[in-house]
Amino acid sequence: MINEVFYSIQGEGFLIGTPALFVRFQGCNLRCVWCDEKSALDFDKTAKSYIEALEEIEDILAIHNPSLIVLTGGEPLLNEDFINIFSYFKSLDKTIQIETNATTLKDDIETLLKTYAKTYITLSPKYISNYNIDSKFLAFDKNIELKIVVDEHLNEGILEREYIRPFVEKGLLVLQPLWENGSVKFIDKAIKLAEKFNARIILQMHKLLGLK
Ligand code: SF4
Repeated sequence: MINEVFYSIQGEGFLIGTPALFVRFQGCNLRCVWCDEKSALDFDKTAKSYIEALEEIEDILAIHNPSLIVLTGGEPLLNEDFINIFSYFKSLDKTIQIETNATTLKDDIETLLKTYAKTYITLSPKYISNYNIDSKFLAFDKNIELKIVVDEHLNEGILEREYIRPFVEKGLLVLQPLWENGSVKFIDKAIKLAEKFNARIILQMHKLLGLK
């Protein structure tokens, strides 16, 4: 089940600015109040099938040739079409970025990700799941970043947690101030946290530019 397929630039995280083809999977296990992709939250069986999405992907690839593919959601790693979509882009030798809320990593998907060198993982744990990260993700030591939205819930105690420390020490922490009602919030808080936790503050560039 796929919500949409589109071509844009990666507007978030350390790969910011990279032209990319996006596949947004349908369905998420969380319900963040500020989620800006509400149409992708339900596990809606009437969403695009893998075959329909593939047709759209091929139409885009007939025009564009991005090196980066972004698999997002919703929550891509809970989606029944994830392995098919990932394997398709793997066969094209693309870099595949997965944006996940980090709650679940199934064994078969873990194996798939580990055996493809062009996998890039963006862990984005959320307040609503107490910023938990499935411990299996912590075994990935390269091509990975930790991206956390700065909102009223984030605080120093969360960033001091044991499992967050490796990302802080390696400079792999991205703080993303909340975008709400057309503007960026919590900038001062983000600057203070970035100073203390060796983080980069990266805004959602696609929103600032009015892109998808
Ligand atoms: S995890 Fe992501 S897609 Fe799911 S509700 Fe939260 S912001 Fe939305």
